[in-house]
Amino acid sequence: MKKAETTPKTNREHIRLVEQYGASNYAPLPVVLTQAKGCWCTDVEGKKYLDMLSSYSALNQGHRHPRVLRTLREQAGKITLTSRAFHNDAMGPFLKQLCKLTGMQKALPMNTGAEGVETAIKMARRWGYRTKSIPDGKAEIVVAENNFHGRTTGVISFSTEEHYRRGFGPFLPGFVIVPFGDAAALERAVNPNTCAVLLEPIQGEGGIIIPPQGYLTRVREICTRARVLFILDEIQTGLGRTGKMFAWQHEPASKPDAIVLGKALGGGIMPISAVAASAEALGVFDPGSHGSTFGGNPLACAIASTALDVIVEEKLADNAAKIGARFIGALRSLRSPLVREVRGRGLLIGVELVHGAGGAHKYCELLLEEGLLCKETREDVIRFAPPLVVKWKDIEWALPRIARVLQA
Ligand SMILES: *Cc1c(COP(=O)(O)O)cnc(C)c1O
Repeated sequence: MKKAETTPKTNREHIRLVEQYGASNYAPLPVVLTQAKGCWCTDVEGKKYLDMLSSYSALNQGHRHPRVLRTLREQAGKITLTSRAFHNDAMGPFLKQLCKLTGMQKALPMNTGAEGVETAIKMARRWGYRTKSIPDGKAEIVVAENNFHGRTTGVISFSTEEHYRRGFGPFLPGFVIVPFGDAAALERAVNPNTCAVLLEPIQGEGGIIIPPQGYLTRVREICTRARVLFILDEIQTGLGRTGKMFAWQHEPASKPDAIVLGKALGGGIMPISAVAASAEALGVFDPGSHGSTFGGNPLACAIASTALDVIVEEKLADNAAKIGARFIGALRSLRSPLVREVRGRGLLIGVELVHGAGGAHKYCELLLEEGLLCKETREDVIRFAPPLVVKWKDIEWALPRIARVLQA
């Protein structure tokens, strides 16, 4: 057979290949993307779509941001990987920039979000043994029900989603799960063996769940009083997504001891994550105690530096606040009988459907036909989280299409 005959061209042909040769650990919508710029993507058949997912907030700067692309090319022309056996000249400036931006003293770079969370867990446990004299093997971390912190065996050990865990045990002990948004329950769970509280400031994968106003501040107070590290996973909520640089800043007195970042830190181009924390907390790591071959690689660090510059200099958090507020208002005014609630902060927006609607997945397929890339989260929530470079005219293009799907 000639090559031309076997090369897949249509969405269907590509999907058939993935179904035959790929593991089925995802259930993607039936579209095969081949190009993108800013907020817009094109599939292999030439149809255009507005990106309303931003790869789960990894594309806050939009697809192929010109400044991030330029850094990719420049750094690729210099050096891309050194391992941490040697220093490179991209990591130091990046770590300094990240510490200034987060208001932290030190940072430790890894690659994926889940690795960042694993790093925070190791940091918290060792900190607890060293500074609180917790008996060896007894350290506890308090986490929230309905959390999402990644997919490693360590992280799924404290997930409450059955299908994330089924068949993957035995699990890691040392986690105490409390309801999200309930500070009193969290306070009761803290004991002398507690080394940390680990939360998302807004639960993203959990369905865009915003805790009651004042919750993060109360958790901060509880952690300070009990001498427990307050760790926020801002992998999805951070870097402008919710209308502030970090979601905790919606409650100015809730500053955490450590923050985990990922996703948009890589500007939609390179995987890079980091834990930024106090010198005392990250000071527990000594040579050999933790690491990653690609962690802190110069290509990712250079790209992350520019990715952060873009968010700050283009005021993407302000844009998320402004466009997000108008978008949420417009979604609420649709008054669809299918919609139970519209909630969100900045451009992290969830439209929860009524139970009788038959699940959000079906509506994401209809939105796809209308030219919108959306993905459900949990059963009944459609997430709208476009790149933060989105313009109001893009949202104006989307609104009648969303209306058509939700009012059908
Ligand atoms: C996506 C996400 C992670 C995991 O990041 P990966 O890069 O997929 O490992 C962790 N925490 C939160 C809040 C996330 O949204």
